[in-house]
Parts: sequence; structure tokens; C-alpha cells
Amino acid sequence: MFSLANDACRHLIVFDLEWNQNSYHPNHRMPHEIIEIGACRVDRSYAVTDTFSRLIRPRLYTRLDKHIKQVTGMTEEELAHGDAFADVFADFIHWCGEDAQLVTWGRDDFPVLRRNAAFHQTGMPFTPPIDAQLVFGGACLGSCHQQMNLHAAMEHLHVELDAPAHRAVYDATCTAALLAAIDRAVAAMAPDRRAQLDAVLRREARIATSALLSVPTKYAYQSDALADERLMHIACPACGRRTSFDTPWFDTGRDKYAALARCSAHGMVYGQMHFKRVSNGLLIMHQRAYAADEADIAGTREAYRLYQLLPQKKRHHRLCMADALAKKRGGA
Ligand SMILES: [Zn+2]
Repeated sequence: MFSLANDACRHLIVFDLEWNQNSYHPNHRMPHEIIEIGACRVDRSYAVTDTFSRLIRPRLYTRLDKHIKQVTGMTEEELAHGDAFADVFADFIHWCGEDAQLVTWGRDDFPVLRRNAAFHQTGMPFTPPIDAQLVFGGACLGSCHQQMNLHAAMEHLHVELDAPAHRAVYDATCTAALLAAIDRAVAAMAPDRRAQLDAVLRREARIATSALLSVPTKYAYQSDALADERLMHIACPACGRRTSFDTPWFDTGRDKYAALARCSAHGMVYGQMHFKRVSNGLLIMHQRAYAADEADIAGTREAYRLYQLLPQKKRHHRLCMADALAKKRGGA
């Protein structure tokens, strides 16, 4: 059952990241490079008891993106005096303590943290955070699909905080300042809406542990990429081993693909995929895979069944891996 101040967890840590990127020449193993980790520890009454704020010296993108420079007010010189990611992350883990429950505003920070940790080959001891933005939407705005940025949410809840620029520790502190009001709103929810919120949070926690993959391909056409079995295979998010397809990749609409696969050790895996064309005209494949629940399994099988019922002509360029493979094998 959801609770911000869960009895089982000793430390509630609200964290926020700033990251940098190079939109023109991204490294697909780490498209977003963390340059700052900010966090605060809160007690059971959501009072801040300690803060953590560190800059990270970039390894990949040493020039700051213009927009990020504007928003954060950071400079390259400042970052050059930061510490290596591995050192800052190790200190952060130590500062958090064992059994820490992380809290973030929004769903973006945790995947970026996981990807940075993987890039630097450092361990990742944290379980997925509670997304306070999502809880706020469900409890204060009437729907988890309603999203508000942090500062609008502060206005909405009449929370004022005298803190300086848009930096990680500041955003973490602002998020922490909302937790008491959000928790009160959660406690006041009707049981059925509360159950819905819990279901959404459980789903988000599964999605947050997704295996993410961005792979530049040698293909200009999606049909060619779909016929490449090595490229298309889904690795189990739990063990990394190859899975077997239950339904092949198929276009669920607007070039967004879904598939179901099975790991013999970990059960069903749900995959999402899309392609992006880069400046050289070739496609980059972006794939996400996470443990499927009953709803994912039933929903995807049904969507694929309906897809197959569509006559070829009426699929309107909605492609499918099975067709692409058959065409390739047929030598067409
Ligand atoms: Zn597995």
C-alpha cells in the first residue's frame, strides 16, 4: 500500500538531477549526462533535516547546452571544478543510508540516474522512487494523468519557499515542501480512487525498472530494421538474456511498436519501440522493456489480434515484424 512515510523505510530522500546533453552528437549509451545531484532528507513530518548538493564534472559533454545554461545559471568553469560521477554517486549512496526510499518530482530522473550509473559501471542500489508529481495529480488534481510543474504545484497548494535559482537541491527542497500537503490529500481520497492510484504507482515502479536501449541502425527504412532479428530481439529486463516472442513487434499506431516476449526464468516481458531518423538519414531504434502484468499481456495480445484482422491494405503502413521477416525470407 502506498504511503510516503512508509514504516518500513528509515530514510525518505527527495532528490533532483540536472543534466546536460548534446542534441547534435549524442552518445546513445548516455544521451543525458548528470551534472548535479541535489537532495534533501526529510523526517516523518516532512521537515528537511539535511541536504546534499554536488556538481559533477562532465566526461562526455563538456559544453553546456544553451537552454540548460539559461535555466540553471551554471557555467562550464563551475562544472570543471565538480567531482567525477563515480565519487559523487558513491557519496550520495552513503549519505542516503540503507533502505532509503527515494522521492522525485516527475518520472525522468530515475531512468537518467540508472543510465549514468550503467555508463560509469557503478552499482545501482536504489529501487524506483515515488513520483510525487504523479501522486499530486492523483490526489490533488483528480487524475494521475494531470500533470503540473513543480512551481505551479507549489502555487496550487499555497506553498511558498524562499530559495534561489533553479538548481537540483532547490527543486528537491521545493518537492519536499509539498509532501505534507500531498500526503494529507492522499489520506482524504475515497477508497476506490486510492486503489486506482496505488495501481498506477505499482505500474510506474515496474516501468521505472525498464531496460532502455538506443541503437543506431544501418537502415533507412523501418521495414528493413524490423526484418533484422538480432536488432529486434528483446533482452529480459531482469537477467539480460534473450527472450522469445509471444507476439511480434507490431505498429500500434503512429509508428509506435509493441511486443510481448517470454523469458524462461522471469516470465512475460512487455516491449515498446520507436524509430527516429538522424541527420545521416539512418534510423535509431529506441526500445524499452519491462516485466509485463496481466493487463499488459491481455491488452497486447488483444491489440495484436485486432491488428491481424485488418486487411493488409487497411493497415496504412502500420508495419509488423512477422510480415517484414516473411517478406525478407521470401526474397521480395
Ligand atoms: Zn530473465
